[in-house]
Amino acid sequence: TTYELNGRTAVVTGAASGIGTEIARTLARSGAGVALLSRRADRVQDLAGKIAADGGRALAVAADVTADLTEVVETVHAGLGRVDLLINNAGVMLANPFSEGRMDEWRRMIDTNLTGLLNVTRAFSADLVAAGRDGTADLINVSSVGAHLTFPNYAVYTATKAAVTHLSANLRTEFAALGIRVTNLEPGLVSTELGDHMDNPEVEAHLAAWRAEVPPLSPADIADVVGFAASRPKQVNLRQLMVMPTVQA
Ligand code: NDP
Repeated sequence: TTYELNGRTAVVTGAASGIGTEIARTLARSGAGVALLSRRADRVQDLAGKIAADGGRALAVAADVTADLTEVVETVHAGLGRVDLLINNAGVMLANPFSEGRMDEWRRMIDTNLTGLLNVTRAFSADLVAAGRDGTADLINVSSVGAHLTFPNYAVYTATKAAVTHLSANLRTEFAALGIRVTNLEPGLVSTELGDHMDNPEVEAHLAAWRAEVPPLSPADIADVVGFAASRPKQVNLRQLMVMPTVQA
């Protein structure tokens, strides 16, 4: 599906795989220039090449959302201009029983899913403010239905997502007055490599069993919703979107 996003300039974090890749492709197909931010340079370069081959505009930017982003912002400005559509999608999900005390995993999730999201938003907020003044600006945060669920082993992951959901709702009260729409997007199960970085075979087996029971959405299903939200008339803000596989309770 394509949407009307001609003249828009987007940044998609975590564009190297899964949901981020499909969001980038959908936005580019819809006419937006898209900066692809992820740590894996080869993956974003490959994606930029594919988008260009399909007639789209994309800029590969190897970047870590937890790092200083001064140069990243300069690179995006030089390559694509002012950003008016920021998709905070980069995230990690690591799960273990809390009693294992995996401070290393907790730190990675908090640093990426929450502090990283803040870092990127801070880096591009001047762009969003200027774009909001001139027309349309969007901040779309990829949280998770996990922000509302309770289940074992994922306490810290779900806490980071609950924080993102609450951040989106509160930031919206400031950004609305500046003409910046804030959309909080909460996917249910989606087929990606998100669960592939865990190191506990029991927790991994549980996730695999869950996925066998609930056929996950495809990343394109989520990208479709992002394209729709960003292309609404500027007075329309889809502020909270929970997108579930039909059979997931
Ligand atoms: P993936 O693992 O495929 O994508 C995550 C992306 O984040 C990767 O491309 C990775 O790229 C990037 N990333 C991770 N850490 C950093 C970092 N420090 N700096 C920059 N980029 C980073 O999984 P998904 O596509 O599923 O995940 C996308 C988002 O969707 C996440 O926020 C996730 O929590 C959320 N989500 C996913 C669900 C699912 O069922 N799959 C359900 C609900 C929410 P690289 O390694 O190159 O940096």
